[in-house]
Amino acid sequence: MNRFSERLAAEGLKLRRARPEILQVNVGKLCNLTCTHCHVNAGPKRKEIMTRATIDRIIDWLAKTDIPTVDLTGGAPEMIPDFRYFIERVRALRPWRKIIDRCNLTILLERSYEGLAEFLAAKKVEIIASMPCYSPRNVTAQRGEGVFDGSITALRLLNKLGYGVAGDMPLHLVYNPVGAFLPGPQAELEANYKRELAEHFGIVFNKLYIITNLPIARFAAFLRHNNKLDAYMELLINAFNPATVEGLMCRNTISVGWQGEVYDCDFNQQLDMQWRNGQPIFLWDVDPEKVLDREIMTGEHCFGCTAGAGSSCGGVLV
Ligand code: SF4
Ligand code: SF4
Repeated sequence: MNRFSERLAAEGLKLRRARPEILQVNVGKLCNLTCTHCHVNAGPKRKEIMTRATIDRIIDWLAKTDIPTVDLTGGAPEMIPDFRYFIERVRALRPWRKIIDRCNLTILLERSYEGLAEFLAAKKVEIIASMPCYSPRNVTAQRGEGVFDGSITALRLLNKLGYGVAGDMPLHLVYNPVGAFLPGPQAELEANYKRELAEHFGIVFNKLYIITNLPIARFAAFLRHNNKLDAYMELLINAFNPATVEGLMCRNTISVGWQGEVYDCDFNQQLDMQWRNGQPIFLWDVDPEKVLDREIMTGEHCFGCTAGAGSSCGGVLV
C-alpha cells in the first residue's frame, strides 16, 4: 500500500473504474517545446512515436466500442507523421466520436505544419490548448522564449477559423501553476483570462481548465533540484479532498501509450504503471465490457489529483 491508497482506505473510499467514456491516446513524446513542468519529459529529440500499424489496431478496437470521446495527447500529438490519418480514421467511424487535440499552440505555426489549424477546423476537432498564463513573463518562465507571442498568434488564427466562436468548435485553455503551489479557484481565473486575453489581444475562448502539476518526471526533477519536492508532497497530502475521488479521470478514461500499452491515466503512463494480467496488456487485449469495476493502480503522485478542488484533464473536479 502507498500513502494514497492508505488515505483512501482510512476515508472508507474505493477507487474503481466506471464505464469508459474517453480513450486518451498519447501518441508519443516528440514535441517542439521542452517545458519545465512537462510530465512526459517530451522534447524535439524524443524518438518514441506511434506507428500507422498501431493506429490501425487502436481504431479497429475503438470501432467495436461506443466510447464517445478520443483525446489525443503527447508530446505534441500533431508531430507524428500519421496524425491526420488518425483523425480521418476516427472521423470515418459510426457512431460519430468527439475528437480532442491537446495542442501546445506553437506547433500550429511551425514550418511544415501549414494548414494544420484549417485541417482541425474542417474535421471539427475540439482543441484544448496549453496557456499557463495571460502574462508573457510567466509563460516564458515555464515554456521558453517566444512561446507567448507564438501562442497569441495561434489563438488569433484559431479564432479566425471559428474556434471559441462557433458552437461546434470549442477552444478550451489549460492553466497550470508556474511553480510549487496549488492553483487558485477556476471560475475566478477563467474570468481573469477572458478579460485579459480579450482586452489586450482580442482573443476569445470557451473554458479554462485548471490542472495541478503532479510531482513526476520533469516537474519532480525541477522540485528536487530546488529542494522543494518534500514540501510540495506535503502540500498535496494536506489538501486531500475526499469529494474529488468520485470524479477522478482514471475512473472513466482509458489511457493508451505510443505502442498501444494501457494505463489508468497519462500520469501512470509516464510512471510505467502499465495494466498487467500476468503479462503487460495492450489495448487490443482489453475487453471493454470487463473494464467496469477494475481496481485503479495508484501511487503518491495521485495526491496531485485530489488536492483542493481536484484536478483532471478536464479541469477541477468539485
Ligand atoms: S508540456 Fe506539452 S508542450 Fe510542453 S514539452 Fe511537454 S508535451 Fe511539449
Ligand atoms: S494520477 Fe490521478 S488520474 Fe491517475 S490514477 Fe492517480 S488519481 Fe487517478
